[in-house]
Amino acid sequence: MSDALMNTYARADLAFERGEGPYLITHEGDRYLDFASGIAVTALGHAHPHLVNALQQQAARFWHCSNLFRIPEGERLAERLVAHSFADRVFFCNSGVEAFEAATKLVRKYFDDKGEPDRWQVITCNGAFHGRSLTAIAAAGNEKYMAGFAPHVPGFTQTAFGNLNELRHAITDETAAILVEPIQGEGGIRTPDLEYLRGLRQVCDEFGLLLVFDEIQCGMGRTGTLFAYEQAGIAPDVMMLAKGLGGGFPIGALLATEEVSASFGPGNHGTTFGGNPLAMACGNAVMDVMLDEGFLPQVKRVSHSLREKLDDLVRRHPQVYSEVRGMGLLLGLRGAVPNTELIAALRARGLLTVGAGENVIRLLPPLIITEAEAEAAVGILNSVAEAY
Ligand code: PLP
Repeated sequence: MSDALMNTYARADLAFERGEGPYLITHEGDRYLDFASGIAVTALGHAHPHLVNALQQQAARFWHCSNLFRIPEGERLAERLVAHSFADRVFFCNSGVEAFEAATKLVRKYFDDKGEPDRWQVITCNGAFHGRSLTAIAAAGNEKYMAGFAPHVPGFTQTAFGNLNELRHAITDETAAILVEPIQGEGGIRTPDLEYLRGLRQVCDEFGLLLVFDEIQCGMGRTGTLFAYEQAGIAPDVMMLAKGLGGGFPIGALLATEEVSASFGPGNHGTTFGGNPLAMACGNAVMDVMLDEGFLPQVKRVSHSLREKLDDLVRRHPQVYSEVRGMGLLLGLRGAVPNTELIAALRARGLLTVGAGENVIRLLPPLIITEAEAEAAVGILNSVAEAY
């Protein structure tokens, strides 16, 4: 492995040459079933022909022109996101953490515009993950990611994920918003009661706070609905997207209601590459596929049968896997032995997964997997358990 890269990731000594649907393939022709999806990014698998075609077509036309001009592909993607969500307006950027930064700026600007500049505090949750910028690590409040980066950005308080009572007690006159992942990904596929999500909406309405959902990992079809909030039958005021929205092309998006979006005017926020035509072409291609009427029902069907198989696996091997977590194809298996050991053993047998907090193995297959591919993954999980 090259020493020219900064040592920010504990990388496996494994490189791929190409991808095919749910498989990544090495130079030597070894095929890996990709249940990591680049951490919930390649929602349509690898080399999806519609995505490849959209990118090639756009690349042949032009790559970049700046937001100082209209970008019709971006207008189209924004309109489609608006048509299929609670939101009225969209801001495009290039990553999840950029969507987070935009969201936190928008919250502050909204209350400043309302003549309440003292309301700038945001309540977040223990176990949260919102990215790696200085603001995002302060928001999540996880010591592991904050150590060495003091002084920390002020303005965030964490409460226990899933606990409305504690949340209510944390609200002060300075609180502006509650910012939550509807399902915590990095924190260990922690799935709250849908009642908790409904309760968040209620508390925000009661105290005049903005409800901000980070759907960077749990959005874009992963739970079986286009957005995770739909599962609870409520809507946030602001939402962040990234990962699956570009199908692998770097992208981020901030979505908000008209009332909140109105606080951003020219000059308040921006990024050179945001809404780049290549990213917008990929986003539109992802939407073409996900909005097909058969797509989300198929995600639900496959995830249902995968879930049953995983429940059965845990029943048969409680000494190796202790719990199944999650919803749709955002799933986690808690290890009864160290998850790092399990992840390495799965990889050695051709299944790629990714770890998460609380000793969890994340199972994030592309949303296009078939029942047979899901079964093959469970077969590998089973063979690893039998080797213990
Ligand atoms: N928010 C959540 C819920 C995430 O899972 C992630 C990335 O894992 C981020 C934010 C940060 O996204 P990015 O790595 O694209 O900056």
